[in-house]
Amino acid sequence: MKFIGAHVSTAGGVENAPMNAEQIGANAFAMFTKNQRQWEGKPLTAASQKAFKERCEQHGYSKAQILPHDSYLINLGHPEDEPLEKSRAAFIDEMERCQFLGLELLNFHPGSHLKKTDPESCLATIAESLNQALAVTEGVVAVIENTAGQGTNLGYRFEQLATIIDQVDDKSRVGVCLDTCHLFAAGYDLRDRQACEETFAEFERLVGFEYLRGMHLNDSKKPLDSHVDRHESLGDGEIGMAPFEYIMADDRFDGIPLVLETPNPDRWADEIAMLRRFSED
Ligand code: MN
Ligand code: MN
Ligand code: ZN
Repeated sequence: MKFIGAHVSTAGGVENAPMNAEQIGANAFAMFTKNQRQWEGKPLTAASQKAFKERCEQHGYSKAQILPHDSYLINLGHPEDEPLEKSRAAFIDEMERCQFLGLELLNFHPGSHLKKTDPESCLATIAESLNQALAVTEGVVAVIENTAGQGTNLGYRFEQLATIIDQVDDKSRVGVCLDTCHLFAAGYDLRDRQACEETFAEFERLVGFEYLRGMHLNDSKKPLDSHVDRHESLGDGEIGMAPFEYIMADDRFDGIPLVLETPNPDRWADEIAMLRRFSED
C-alpha cells in the first residue's frame, strides 16, 4: 500500500492537520508540531493532543502514515557549543512533542558545518546529538533527510547519511527520508527509469532500504548537481515524471509516508490523484 500525501497546514492547531490531509485525498501527511521558524513552541495542550489522536483515528491515519518535520533553526552539527546545546534541547523538545501526539517518526535536516569545522567532525557531532536525544526519549525514530548540499549543509551524499547512521548506537531509532528534489540537486539523476535504478541501487548499497522511513516527492526548478534547493510541482521542473512513476510502481516504497512539498497547494489533490493512478493500489 502506498501512503501518499502532502505537508499540510496546522494553522489553528496540530489537530487540524488530519482534516487538511483528508480534503486533498491524502492517506499520509507531514506537518510541523510547532512554528518551524521559532525556537520556542507553545506546549501542546492536553486538549490539542487528544483532538489530534482522535481525528487521526477517525480519518484513518496511523502513525506509519504521518511524518512530522522539525524546526528549520535546529543544527545538530553546529560547530560551536552554545548554539549546539540550544539545537540539541530544541530537538529533544521536538521528539517529545511527537511522543505526546502518539507519533513515531521525526524528519530533520542533518546539520551544517558553517565552514568552522570539517565535514567528518560535523557528521560525528550530528550522530552524538542523536545519541543524546534518543537516550532521553522513547519510541520516536529520528529520520534524517538527505539535502541538496546547499551552502554548508551536510547529508547530500549517501556516504554522509551512512556515516551518521554508523555512529548512532540504537540503529532501530534512526532512519532516512529521501527528498527527490534534494537527490537531483545533489547530483543523483532521476530523469529516466535507468537513472532511478542506478540512484536507488546506490542508496541500497551505501545505506539500505531498511532505513528508508519516508520520501519527499518534489520536482526541481534547478538542474542536476546544482546544489540549490528549489522545489517545483511534479512534471514542471528539471526532473520530470520518471521518478514518481518509478516510485509508485516499486514495493520498496510501500508502507512509508510519501509526501509532496511542491510549491502550489492548489495542485496537491491532483498530484496525489495522479500518483495514486501510477501505483498499483
Ligand atoms: Mn525538510
Ligand atoms: Mn524535503
Ligand atoms: Zn527542499
